[in-house]
Amino acid sequence: MNSAEWTEAFRAATVDVAQMDVGTVSYEESARRLRTLLKTKLLLHTDLRDSPERFFLAHRILATYATKLGPGFWIRFTVHYNLCVGTVLALGTEEQIASLSDMQEHGLLGCFGLTERLAGVSSGLVVNAVADWDEETDGFTINTLDVGAAKNWISQGLVADKAVVVAELRVKGVSHGPHAFFMDFRRDGEVVPGIMLGDMGKKTVGNDLDNAWIMFNNVKVPKSTLLNRYADIRNGKYVAADSSRPVFHMIGQRLFTGRVAVAQAALEFRRTLYATTKEYTDKRQCWTPTGSRPLSSVPQVRALFEENAKNQHLCDRFVAKCESELCRCLRENTLPSVALTDAIAVAKVKAVEDSIKFVHLLQNEVGSFALMKGTGFEQRDFLTCCKFAEGDTRVLMQKMARDRVKAFQKTRAKAKAECTEETALCSELVEAMRQSSSGPEAAWDIQHEKVYRLAGVIIDRTVTSFLSPQSKL
Ligand SMILES: Cc1cc2nc3c(=O)[nH]c(=O)nc-3n(C[C@H](O)[C@H](O)[C@H](O)COP(=O)(O)OP(=O)(O)OC[C@H]3O[C@@H](n4cnc5c(N)ncnc54)[C@H](O)[C@@H]3O)c2cc1C
Repeated sequence: MNSAEWTEAFRAATVDVAQMDVGTVSYEESARRLRTLLKTKLLLHTDLRDSPERFFLAHRILATYATKLGPGFWIRFTVHYNLCVGTVLALGTEEQIASLSDMQEHGLLGCFGLTERLAGVSSGLVVNAVADWDEETDGFTINTLDVGAAKNWISQGLVADKAVVVAELRVKGVSHGPHAFFMDFRRDGEVVPGIMLGDMGKKTVGNDLDNAWIMFNNVKVPKSTLLNRYADIRNGKYVAADSSRPVFHMIGQRLFTGRVAVAQAALEFRRTLYATTKEYTDKRQCWTPTGSRPLSSVPQVRALFEENAKNQHLCDRFVAKCESELCRCLRENTLPSVALTDAIAVAKVKAVEDSIKFVHLLQNEVGSFALMKGTGFEQRDFLTCCKFAEGDTRVLMQKMARDRVKAFQKTRAKAKAECTEETALCSELVEAMRQSSSGPEAAWDIQHEKVYRLAGVIIDRTVTSFLSPQSKL
C-alpha cells in the first residue's frame, strides 16, 4: 500500500473512533475500539522500528479528530504503541519482540507505568518502585513500598492486559537503577494477584480514557519479564550487555518518538481548530455603519489568522525535519545525536507552547463562538495534556538552560567574545550563582525568569539553525 492508500485505509478503520461521543462513551468501549484497530494490523507493533513514518502519520491522523474527541483516544493509542510496545522494541530481545505480534493478533492492550505520585513530572529521574531479584523463584518481586512510590496517571490502567513497568532493579540488595519489566497485567480480564489499582477521577477532558493509580504488593514476575537486550541477570549476577547503551538511556528513547508525536498532535489540534473557526468567521457578518463585513476581515482577526499561519508553517517545517531525522535513526537502529535530541526537545516545547498561545488568542477574538460546545474550544485542554506528556515544558526548558550554561562555562572566554543575548544571559546567570551567599541552586531559582528567557532564546536559535540548509546533526 502506498502512503495515500494507507492513509485512506487508516481513516476508514478509525471512522467509529472519530464518531465517538466522548461525553457518553465508556472507557471500556473506547478501549474496545483500540483493540479492534490493533487487530486490523494497519499499524503493526513493529512499524515504529520498520516503518516509522507510518507510526507518526497514524498519530497525526488521530490528532485531526482531537477537537471533537479531546485527548482520550489519542493518549490511549500513543501509550499503547509508543510507550508500551515501543519500549519492548527498544529494550527487548528478539524473543520478547516476537511476542508483540501475538499481542496484536489478540488485540491485547498495553499500559506504561513510569510516573510515580511523589516524583510527578520528574518520574524517571526518581524511581521508587522496586524489583528485587529472587534467586529461589528465578524471577523478580515488584513492590511500591509507600504511597509516594505508587504509579499514578497510568493511561489504560483499568483495562490493559499487559504492562511495561519501570522499577529500580535490585540484586542482593544492590541497586542497578531503573529497568523496564514487560509483564502480564490482567489474565482473562482479571488483574494479576498483588496489584491494587483505582481510578484517578474525573478530568476536564478525556474521560473516555481510564487513568489509574497502581500499587504493587509482592508481585512475583518471571525472569523473562525483564526487557534484557542491554542488561540481564546471569548466574545470580547483574550483567550489562552494552555499556554505551545504559538501560535507562534506552527507556528514554521512547521519549524522543513521543515528543515528536506530541508536537505534531498539538499542531494538528491547532490547525483543525483554526480551520473550523475560520469557516465560522468567514460567514459571520459584523455590523458596521456602512453595512456589514465578515468577522474574518476585522483587522485584529485577519492579523491573527495571518500570524498564526506563518508560525504554524514554521513549526510544521521544524517538527517535520525532526521527524525525518529521527525516522532515519529508528530505521538504522542508531541513537539520535545530541543535536537531534536537543532539537526534538525544542520542537516539543515550541509546537506545544505556540499552539497554546495561538489557541488562546483565537478564543479571545471570535466572540461567543468560542463558548459553544462542539466548536472544539471545549477540548482545548488537549494542549494542557501535551504540555506535560513526554517531558514537561518547564522541565525541558530548565534542562536547555542548564546545559547551555554548563557549555558556556567551559568555553567562557570564546563565548564572551561572541556577545549575543544568549551569552549575555549565560554570563549573568553564572555571575548570580557565583555571588550568591545561599549557593548556586538557590541563585538559579531566584533567577528563574532569566533561566526561562535563556531557554526561549535557545529555542529560537535552534529553530533557525536547524532549518538552515547548512544544518549538521
Ligand atoms: C491524561 C494523562 C495521561 C497520562 N498517562 C501516563 C501514562 O500512561 N504513563 C505514565 O507513566 N504517566 C502518565 N501520565 C503522567 C504524566 O506524564 C505526568 O508525569 C504527570 O501528569 C505529572 O503530573 P503532576 O501533576 O504530578 O505534576 P507535578 O510533578 O506536580 O508538576 C506540576 C508542574 O510543576 C512544574 N514543575 C514540577 N517540577 C519541576 C521542576 N523540577 N522544574 C520546573 N518546573 C517543575 C511543571 O510546570 C509541572 O507541569 C499521564 C498524565 C495525564 C494527565
